Amino acid sequence: MIRKILIANRGEIAVRVLRACSEMGIRSVAIYSEADRFGLHVKKADESYCIGQEELAGYLNPHRIVNLAVETGCDAIHPGYGFLSENPLLAQICTDRGVRFIGPDAGVIRRMGDKTEARQAMIAAGVPVTPGSDGNVSGLDEALAVATRIGYPVMLKATSGGGGRGIRRCDTPAALAQNFDRVVSEATKAFGSAEVFLEKCIVNPRHIEVQILADSHGQVIHLWERDCSIQRRNQKLIEIAPSPQLTPEQRSHVGELAVRAARAVNYENAGTIEFLLTQDGEFYFMEMNTRVQVEHTITEEITGLDIVKEQIRIADGLSLSLAQPDVELHGCAIQFRINVEDPRNDFLPSFGRITRYYAPGGPGVRTDTAIYTGYQIPPHYDSMCAKIIVWGRNFDEAIARSLRALDDTIIAGVPTTMPFYQEILRHPDFRSGRFDTGFLAAHPELTQYSLKRSRDAAVLAAVAAIAAHVGL
Ligand code: ADP
Ligand code: ADP
Ligand code: MG
Repeated sequence: MIRKILIANRGEIAVRVLRACSEMGIRSVAIYSEADRFGLHVKKADESYCIGQEELAGYLNPHRIVNLAVETGCDAIHPGYGFLSENPLLAQICTDRGVRFIGPDAGVIRRMGDKTEARQAMIAAGVPVTPGSDGNVSGLDEALAVATRIGYPVMLKATSGGGGRGIRRCDTPAALAQNFDRVVSEATKAFGSAEVFLEKCIVNPRHIEVQILADSHGQVIHLWERDCSIQRRNQKLIEIAPSPQLTPEQRSHVGELAVRAARAVNYENAGTIEFLLTQDGEFYFMEMNTRVQVEHTITEEITGLDIVKEQIRIADGLSLSLAQPDVELHGCAIQFRINVEDPRNDFLPSFGRITRYYAPGGPGVRTDTAIYTGYQIPPHYDSMCAKIIVWGRNFDEAIARSLRALDDTIIAGVPTTMPFYQEILRHPDFRSGRFDTGFLAAHPELTQYSLKRSRDAAVLAAVAAIAAHVGL
């Protein structure tokens, strides 16, 4: 039985896993870098260990992490997202050392982490994939030949890519020639692999992904879909569950496709199958994320399930706590990734001290974060500082509550994406559920808001100044 878990992560996801541990009566071990010594996860865990002076090396060292888990008597490791979560080596070392890895086995992580191998597996399973190259392309000549066959525009993608990086749209052979070396070098630097492949670029698709759970007894269920079409440069900013743009038929169809995909690779634990939905209503498999996702929260809100607890139960060899017909779909949830970036200045990240923090509350509002008043956000990691998750009986109520919740929130000292999200929430196309992955690029005016319109920045700076003056 799992009694003690090492959390191989930091920030809000480490805190999220700690909450599940606490509710399950499981002891917890946190790891941290020197730069993270004031991190909330460090304070909240039962035990915390510094794993290095360097900002990243410790979080990225699987041998050191598993050694620590063994030394501290942990039965299992939760990898969170990012860092080593999709690195098969961590899962493999866990297996070798008799520590349970809370995720699928190393072979599945490796196979699904390779986007061309994942495509091959899906083709074999009869899951439709975006038209593209049969595997990786060996060089520019092959890329040009494939592009001529599938037709422009094409997407040039890093085979091991993630986090929206290593993807470039090419509209002409000249653009492909120009981008080729750039994507190869980006991929090498960011993912340690020079492999690239081509997909047909689906123009203005919706990003629809399905959360699945699979236990070690062969049961696979899906927890409905999330619409992650509100993106900037292929990175998700706002996510919605369920998608306001699917018919009930499309919803059950994509759910079945996801279950088929997971079964085809003997998947175990929580995972997400990402699809593109074309303007003609076709779903194409895009990739699988073999870990808990940033936006798992909205699925929790509409189903009432705790996905992290389910992950731990599955790793413990237990059966899923429910069958497909028992999975609820209740209301609508929206998640906002609050980033410390200035939307009015090309989303320039700005890491600094949170001089004042006040979390939103009231009906249907949840905040997942690791910030607090006085917290200095280290510049070495993600710019996402909080997730605000709002639930309503339907999309309209969720929108109204979101505007209210974002208005309630105070994050002072650093610019954030909150006022930008309020602009999106007021846009008629968003409100009527008509948007695709091109929405933000098509509406640059949404970043040109006046700060007077929201309670953010200017007002909050004044509040912070008064607070500082009276010594709060
Ligand atoms: P999600 O799929 O959960 O929506 P994102 O794509 O936004 O998540 O990625 C979550 C975090 O994980 C980000 O910090 C991102 O940079 C990181 N990440 C995702 N995939 C990779 C990868 N292949 N290599 C390195 N970092 C990654
Ligand atoms: P990552 O591993 O970085 O998450 P994905 O393959 O999931 O990369 O793609 C990220 C985003 O890029 C998608 O959500 C979508 O907006 C866009 N994208 C990827 N492939 C295509 C494609 N073939 N056509 C159009 N858009 C695409
Ligand atoms: Mg993706």
